[in-house]
Amino acid sequence: MLRLICIAILFSAVAAHSEPVSLRQSCINSLKKYKSFFKDESLDKVCERAEKTADCSSANGEPIYHIDQKGISKTPKKILVISLIHGDETHAGSLGRFWLERLSKLDARNSWRVIPVANPDGVAAKTRQNSAGVDLNRNFPTADWNENALNFWKKEARSSIRKFPGKESGSEPEVRCLMQHLDAYKPDFVISIHTPLNVLDFDGPKVKKPNYSYLPWKSLGNFPGSLGRYMWVERQTPVLTTELKETLPVNANVFEQLQDLIGSLVQADLK
Ligand SMILES: [Zn+2]
Repeated sequence: MLRLICIAILFSAVAAHSEPVSLRQSCINSLKKYKSFFKDESLDKVCERAEKTADCSSANGEPIYHIDQKGISKTPKKILVISLIHGDETHAGSLGRFWLERLSKLDARNSWRVIPVANPDGVAAKTRQNSAGVDLNRNFPTADWNENALNFWKKEARSSIRKFPGKESGSEPEVRCLMQHLDAYKPDFVISIHTPLNVLDFDGPKVKKPNYSYLPWKSLGNFPGSLGRYMWVERQTPVLTTELKETLPVNANVFEQLQDLIGSLVQADLK
């Protein structure tokens, strides 16, 4: 009898362990760590719509999921949001979560695709880099990568391990997943959410500077292997790098304003 009970316990433990986590559940688990600005729990509604393209998994096999929201305007533009490409920039997760929850409650003009956790292994390890120690925002295959990326890293970044571009361009599965999204979704505008430089760093055409006092509008330039160079300099798709402050705002008004002003900017200035 005891033997039978032991076998039953062992069997149920193995079954529970091997049951794959659904995409919906991974989405909830990964987003609930970040501050919610809504009183109700909207993650269920958001994560019901989590999707994943075939090759979008991290090196450790975590899904890099995305959520789509179709715009209702007659001429919706496509906005792609990439959050947490640097795993230790926690507030980026809160803004990604807030925008997703808000999108699920309103009829947005533009179409939005949000990839809220682009570097799940970095998030798990609380590191900027992925599990191979690569700074994903230096690993995009820009035309100058072979010639300049490693030299730039040694000279300008003083060989900081936090900014290691990898041994080859596009070597990281997370970067290849993002490249697939950029190719397939063909966004009109890309937003990459970071912390803590307190600036809206725009790589794009000359536009009327938006009226937004929370984060100053400023161009910081781009680097070999960075998303800004890959998408704007080489492909003429504007990239707004949203560098949040070190602390989160008390309420989400400023995040709401930012989402709305990006919507208007994309509609008006980038035709
Ligand atoms: Zn960053």
